[in-house]
Amino acid sequence: MAKNNNDKLYAKNDVIEVTITDIGNDGEGIGKIDGYTLFIKDAVIGDLVRAKIMKAKKNYAYAHLEEVITPSKHRVVPACNIAKQCGGCQLQFMSYERQLQFKQDKVRNNIVRLGGFDPEEIDSIMEPIIGMDDPFEYRNKAQFPVGTDKNGKIITGFYAGHSHNIIPGTDCKIGVKENKEILETIISYMERNHVSAYDEETGKGLVRHVLIRKGFTSGEIMVCFIINYKGKSSSSKSGVQEYLPNQGELIEKLSAIKGMTSISIDINTEKTNVIMGLEVHTIWGRDTIRDTLCGLEFNISPLSFYQVNPVQATKLYDQAIEYAGLTGNETVWDLYCGIGTITLAMSKKAGKAFGVEIIPQAIDDAKQNAVQNGITNAEFYVGKAEEVLPQKYQEEGIYADVICIDPPRKGCDIAALDTMLKMAPKRIVYVSCDSATLARDLRILCDGGYKLERVRPCDMFPMSVHVEAVSLLTRTKGTTSEG
Ligand code: SAH
Repeated sequence: MAKNNNDKLYAKNDVIEVTITDIGNDGEGIGKIDGYTLFIKDAVIGDLVRAKIMKAKKNYAYAHLEEVITPSKHRVVPACNIAKQCGGCQLQFMSYERQLQFKQDKVRNNIVRLGGFDPEEIDSIMEPIIGMDDPFEYRNKAQFPVGTDKNGKIITGFYAGHSHNIIPGTDCKIGVKENKEILETIISYMERNHVSAYDEETGKGLVRHVLIRKGFTSGEIMVCFIINYKGKSSSSKSGVQEYLPNQGELIEKLSAIKGMTSISIDINTEKTNVIMGLEVHTIWGRDTIRDTLCGLEFNISPLSFYQVNPVQATKLYDQAIEYAGLTGNETVWDLYCGIGTITLAMSKKAGKAFGVEIIPQAIDDAKQNAVQNGITNAEFYVGKAEEVLPQKYQEEGIYADVICIDPPRKGCDIAALDTMLKMAPKRIVYVSCDSATLARDLRILCDGGYKLERVRPCDMFPMSVHVEAVSLLTRTKGTTSEG
């Protein structure tokens, strides 16, 4: 039991009425009664709600939304009828305008609170979030789990929040329209041919996931079946390897879908949460699909990392390039470069560009992408940024005018930050997918002689709580290089 200031007791199953006045990190509504805080999933800021307490602590409780008594002006009817159950979108009940405000505030507040920056200074340098004109159908990639329902029927859909229960659905509103037809074709093929779905509990069954990717500029579509395949493939009459029963029927149906370019099999026999295995076989069409980003053409294979929202990625990269202030002669280092998207885009406006990335396959792709786009002033290194950069600095005294970094959520390793400070580039452009670690790293860079000049959030994942941000830092002291 928990007590509030008025000595009222709150306990599990109590039903309360509260007005939602704030939004939590996971998009949940937050309300207060006499200083006692309630976290309520799917409640929207401004709603008056009735909610049932599920878990009560001393100063706060988690409650289940029972009824919206007076809806907020920011509440909207979600585009998707499984928005509440599905773990993919957390903000579909909130107007897109309010979502953008939430994300702008999230980046700003994290920088102020976690980075210890002056609020007024941050408010004067923050630029408005880059939103989408149409915040639906933006994802070029989806991985649908395959399973069975209570009656043994094949289903595909989405995991519920914090679980591996599949919520059936073929029509994801943030994915491409083609997903529905492709998934329905696959389900009916599996039913007709008694193809089993993988069962995570027992490790038995064949089809685990279906990966669908679309090149937005090319219209090319890729389907990859992730299967628990333990046998040896046999060759059909036409010489194609058979991994799935009556595979010819599946290929005939799928290849008739407009845009279909590549159908492949990915073998994953491990009992693991990692979706894809490393062995991929193309069973129809090409190995890769194409897409264009910042005027560069990229080949994307089932295993490559590629930004899932190409419309926003283009805007984000354009902003990063503008912050980099390139005039054609600069030396640029791009850390955490993936398949070299930012490195190659910057190389066109710089003298020389270097990319560093931990995954060897991504660096192979980056090098190939450079050749394919006729770029000769970009070089790539495989390894951890925190190892490659210090080593190259010590051994070769490498130099940079601009360093761009785009680390994963955990942010930048201190050894990489230290070397960046020693290299003392004029400008550092920091692309971040987690504003909490961004705030921590910005503080280290500013304490090391940089000034935070500009910050711009970018909405790469509408309807979810995630937000990207790009920041510009300029050197104010401690130079080891001219300029
Ligand atoms: N800039 C790229 C990729 C960003 S995602 C793009 O926009 O497409 C972050 C990348 O950092 C991933 O490709 C990941 O493999 C890589 N990475 C993760 N830890 C790393 C490390 N310690 N050193 C270098 N790269 C790392």
